Amino acid sequence: MKRKDTLSQKLFHRAEQVIPGGVNSPVRSGRSVGVSPFFVKNARGCRLEDEDGNIFIDYVGSWGPLIAGHAHPEVVEAVRQAATRGTSYGIPCRLEVDMAEKVVSMVPSVESVRMVNSGTEATMSAIRLARGYTGRPKLIKFDGCYHGHSDCLLVKSGSGLATLGIPGSPGVPEEIVAHTLSLPYNDLDAVEEAFRKMGDQIACVIVEPVAGNMGTVPPAPGFLEGLRRLCDAHGVVLIFDEVITGFRLAPGGAQERFGVLPDLTCLGKIIGGGLPVGAYGGRREIMDHIAPGGNVYQAGTLSGNPLAMAAGWTMLNILSRDGVYETLEDSAAYLEAGLRRAAADAGVPVTMNRVGSMGCAFFSPEPVRDFDSALKSNTEAYGIYFREMLARGVYLAPSQFECFFVGLAHDREALDQTIQAAREAFQAVQ
Ligand code: PLP
Repeated sequence: MKRKDTLSQKLFHRAEQVIPGGVNSPVRSGRSVGVSPFFVKNARGCRLEDEDGNIFIDYVGSWGPLIAGHAHPEVVEAVRQAATRGTSYGIPCRLEVDMAEKVVSMVPSVESVRMVNSGTEATMSAIRLARGYTGRPKLIKFDGCYHGHSDCLLVKSGSGLATLGIPGSPGVPEEIVAHTLSLPYNDLDAVEEAFRKMGDQIACVIVEPVAGNMGTVPPAPGFLEGLRRLCDAHGVVLIFDEVITGFRLAPGGAQERFGVLPDLTCLGKIIGGGLPVGAYGGRREIMDHIAPGGNVYQAGTLSGNPLAMAAGWTMLNILSRDGVYETLEDSAAYLEAGLRRAAADAGVPVTMNRVGSMGCAFFSPEPVRDFDSALKSNTEAYGIYFREMLARGVYLAPSQFECFFVGLAHDREALDQTIQAAREAFQAVQ
């Protein structure tokens, strides 16, 4: 299939003149897979239409939020109705309470929750709170986990930094990251050693309970439980960054699925139903340290925005219906099995990692359990696979180090079309 892309190319050329790199977030550029981006005109269900009229089955879903599909009629209607009542107040409104109650009812460890506008804000604020609460400076994160672009977290991050091959960012002074310790994912011994050496200086451990920014990497058995145990023993705040996994892996996210409860949880993506929302929440005793009741400061002009709350609340209600997570599991398992068969039949060594509706096909024969093993993947091969899939009407993340996301709108027809495309694409990788 030959893709037409004159208008997208023209738009990208215009964008490059006035937007850095032509995009408002780096991975969108498609640099690492050797394409320039297409420009979306329309999106519905699991499909995107670009400016040139090409149609793609979408496995990115705006990087995770659109688990119920694009332009879900209930979400669109909720936003439309909210907009007619005003787009922002900066004064409390009922929807904020509805939303907070809904989040508290769904996420097992969250007793109190503060809304922000992005995942980055959520993690940045949770870390400030953990530091303010404990009076300690240091934080532990894990190599290949991405927690947004705030200064102290841009150390050996996954996502766009892994895609572009950069370990950190100029513009972040050394003193700022001096308190950040990045350890190998799934390596409990490394955490134990760090705690032995400096346990009384560590404010928090922040972890993606299933890593989703170096491809998909599940926690090894005992890893999350071990973090919980060590944090308890040393008075350290355990933060789960559930910006991807929240509401995706279960109604209560990874903490429900794996049965390990953190002290604080960061949320984003799905919680906004496609509008810009993040949140952080957790044990009331810790959350009460936030201003105005406490003295840890955090604020936001548009936080709790009524349009965003309407979209998010509607999305969470859709996900609360019977059978949703079974459907997601079935669809994702079907896709995984089809992709595995397609790769095996083509003789292409691929390691498939999947947890619920998030997954990754690593172009590597070896198991992927941490950042080092993820980085052994053949990114050239992924680039070929990406381009071949795109040419056949399937849009995957334009990077080996991101997930594919399956949603409620991926029906059997779309999944079968994807698997057939993969059969041909894997042949081209050889
Ligand atoms: N945390 C995780 C796990 C993420 O995947 C992301 C974004 O991809 C973030 C935090 C940052 O969220 P945002 O891009 O909304 O700032």
